[in-house]
Amino acid sequence: MSPRKEVIRDPSFRPSARSARADSDGGDGGHSGDLAGDAIGPEHEHGAPEDLDVLQAEGLDESWVERHRKLDPSVVDEDVALEANVRPKHLAEFVGQSELKERLSIVLEAARRREQPVDHLLFAGPPGLGKTTLAGIVATEMGANFRVTSGPALARAGDVAAILTVLQEGDILFIDEIHRLARAVEEVLYPAMEDFQLDLVLGKGPTARSIRFDLPRFTLVGATTRTGLVTGPLRDRFGLVARLDHYRPEELEAIVRRSARLLGTDVTAEGAAEIAKRSRGTPRLAIRLLRRVRDYVEVRGAGVITVEAAREGLECFGVDDLGLDRVDRMILETLCERFAGTPIGLSTLAVSVGEEPETVEDAYEPFLLKAGLVLRTPRGRLATPAAFRHLGLGVPASYELGNLAGNDARSGPAGAVSDRPARAGGRVLAADNLSLFDAIGPEDTCS
Ligand code: ADP
Repeated sequence: MSPRKEVIRDPSFRPSARSARADSDGGDGGHSGDLAGDAIGPEHEHGAPEDLDVLQAEGLDESWVERHRKLDPSVVDEDVALEANVRPKHLAEFVGQSELKERLSIVLEAARRREQPVDHLLFAGPPGLGKTTLAGIVATEMGANFRVTSGPALARAGDVAAILTVLQEGDILFIDEIHRLARAVEEVLYPAMEDFQLDLVLGKGPTARSIRFDLPRFTLVGATTRTGLVTGPLRDRFGLVARLDHYRPEELEAIVRRSARLLGTDVTAEGAAEIAKRSRGTPRLAIRLLRRVRDYVEVRGAGVITVEAAREGLECFGVDDLGLDRVDRMILETLCERFAGTPIGLSTLAVSVGEEPETVEDAYEPFLLKAGLVLRTPRGRLATPAAFRHLGLGVPASYELGNLAGNDARSGPAGAVSDRPARAGGRVLAADNLSLFDAIGPEDTCS
């Protein structure tokens, strides 16, 4: 069976990976432990159509390109080359997520001792937290080939079959956005993951024949920002499901310092801490802000990122002291000003800020929840008192914190905000005191 050529149809994925490879290894296509991995049968092996504009010019659906430009921080082209330079290649270089790292190192070591491929792994968590990086680390640590694709790129059963049939023993097959796999594709994956068998149906109607192929033992590493959307049967076939959570400021500071070192930029400890503080718990954003501040100090400063330079630079680029950007602030303004502290549904919120609901849910909301600025209530999204304070607003008399308990809002006494803790999911949330990194459990941030 000859592999199909046009396997990768999702430009958001391959452009990044190809470009990263070109940067990291000169584009020679080597892939052992190469995070950029191998696109399997991609059409765009020529040149570098990495830029989404180019892809758009090539006739790709405009709305798709635009949506992905906003949705996923990983597709901002300027991140790509830089990320390739600073991306950790080994587990020891991967900052934070200590429990996850410990479990993963045990799984990898056990597989190495048994001289077997690693069990299938699923990494879950908001964008930019290191899922792709970890998948690449698994390949490096196992000395395995790294093959890359994504859920939306695998539209038909034949697409995934074409990928599976070119795998070699021990290969790491990384499927990003695995929650977006088509049902027919998932059904091909089940026997492939469980028994390393590929069942193909040839022909149609009464003459249809089913053929079974043996596959090499490979490791599927899935990544998802939406664990809740990964079907039960698929999730059950992963040997380890690991969740990445937002990083603590000191971990982000370490990432900023490490990245600055690799980029040859001088940063003081305080400067790194200032950038870390405003990075919304997300390494990708920490690296992106570092780059912006680096630009700033190169043009306006003395070339060294001090705390003052970091503050000035970040202000210049519209990043506030919590690291919120324009859309984050629009979300808070919608909740606090336009709807004056009453809960609203996700789609209303998304329309109000001019974004897709899934963009709000995947890219913006996790951090706003984590930062204790927004709550999910039975009646919709609700700003917390901390959000009003962050915008420099007073909490209105009509504020409906009572909705957290699923009560009728109008029955809640006006002004009862600060002396009436709200209960959500069986846990009391002192909404007025919600602070960064300890307010809401990870289960609330990404499902
Ligand atoms: P995701 O796949 O979850 O969207 P990535 O793995 O692409 O995120 O990570 C984004 C960038 O952040 C990477 O290029 C990497 O350099 C950096 N990064 C992520 N996690 C870490 C970490 N734990 N330590 C150091 N750098 C990290």
